[in-house]
Amino acid sequence: MSGDVSGRRGPRREEDADGSAKDAGGAAQGGGYGFETRSVHAGTQPDPLTGARQTPIYQNTSYVFHDADHAASLFNLQTYGFIYSRLTNPTVAALEERIANLEGGRGGTCCASGHAAQMMLFTALMEPGDRFVASQRLYGGSITQFGKTFKKFDWHVDFVDTNDPDAVAAAIGERTRAIFVESLANPEGTVSDLERLARLAADAGIPLVVDNTLATPYLCRPIEWGADLVVHSTTKFLSGNGTSLGGCVVDSGRFDWGAVPGRYRSLAEPEPAYHGITFWESFGDLAFTMWAHAVGLRDLGAAMAPMNAFQTLLGVETLPLRMQRQCENARALALHLAEHPQVQRVSYPGVDATAPVQTELAARYLPIGAGAVFTFELRGGYDACVRAVERCNLFSHLANVGDTRSLILHPASTTHRQLSEEQQRAAGAGPETVRLSVGIETLEDLVADLDQALHGAEGVGG
Ligand SMILES: *Cc1c(COP(=O)(O)O)cnc(C)c1O
Repeated sequence: MSGDVSGRRGPRREEDADGSAKDAGGAAQGGGYGFETRSVHAGTQPDPLTGARQTPIYQNTSYVFHDADHAASLFNLQTYGFIYSRLTNPTVAALEERIANLEGGRGGTCCASGHAAQMMLFTALMEPGDRFVASQRLYGGSITQFGKTFKKFDWHVDFVDTNDPDAVAAAIGERTRAIFVESLANPEGTVSDLERLARLAADAGIPLVVDNTLATPYLCRPIEWGADLVVHSTTKFLSGNGTSLGGCVVDSGRFDWGAVPGRYRSLAEPEPAYHGITFWESFGDLAFTMWAHAVGLRDLGAAMAPMNAFQTLLGVETLPLRMQRQCENARALALHLAEHPQVQRVSYPGVDATAPVQTELAARYLPIGAGAVFTFELRGGYDACVRAVERCNLFSHLANVGDTRSLILHPASTTHRQLSEEQQRAAGAGPETVRLSVGIETLEDLVADLDQALHGAEGVGG
């Protein structure tokens, strides 16, 4: 392991972190390079030892110290390098740098899954008794994680309609430590008013945290709109092939963790395990990213596997191409469904005439395309939905999004089954609602598959 690789790929402190540095391989680390170029090159370079062009899978747990002084300085966080893969790994570090670069953030921290990333993020922000405000329109698993398991840590969530600024302001109290939203929210594709939320968060002296999983940085970069932290389930569009669980937290580096004494103790108070250093004082705009590796991953243990980082790096290379195609297919399918006699509503922004505000928000925050996940409602209700889902041949009936393959799900009989009908409706997943995640296949084939499925489902339920 050469010092160059470890220095470049570890959490970054030097001026190359703004993405301006270019290595001997001509890799685009950022700067003036376009999004597509950075999707292929950012964070990686030819392997300095072998010249291997594709990023090696460092399937490796631990790293040899040069000598005792080197080991001591690594453990003191005075030198950047690799100790043990629960904290940092070169393949994972390449992915962290690439995602941070694409989001326009200061540093990234990858975790074993999107939920692991959320767990790690809130461990940094919360103390027992603290609260955060979250959108009531979130991935179902996040609602459960926040509302149930977080309670065991005495962390509390206040779910509100986050596109209602008065509701958000009213929910922010003395112990509120963050606002959490999805840029493009599951399952209906609801767009969050990020700039307005960033202002509310800044006024309260708390960070805006944005789950950018469904939009991806290709469609929306929340940090440009004022978000402080971005979190991803890389399991979805970033990896894109349905092969690898993963998560990532990207820090903008802009939030002042020390502004209110005692508020963010993990980041702004002395850390006994590292000789009393204070991350915010010692590392400045890298405080969150350093804490996330040196304490978060060290103690929570939910590190990303190197193989998963490799698969996800491969996926990110084609992110712009896939997202373009998936958005095109999704919009065309939404328009087709909106004209279908059995369909009473389609939630896709710009297609749903009943939601003009959503159309405006999508035009502002997602100018390239409004994503590939949306819902539609069947007049035939629950039974027609179940029949339609079962009759699909090309669309796979499963609980995932963001695959190159088109996916279909009836939330009320699967992911949202345990909720009351009222709760299902509040989550945008009523009995008559079907969710699609549109892939990159030939559009005519997708249209034909849905048409035959809907035709066969007719009359059964309504
Ligand atoms: C899937 C998903 C998550 C959770 O990610 P995992 O990788 O499954 O743990 C969080 N947020 C959103 C928007 C998701 O789609």
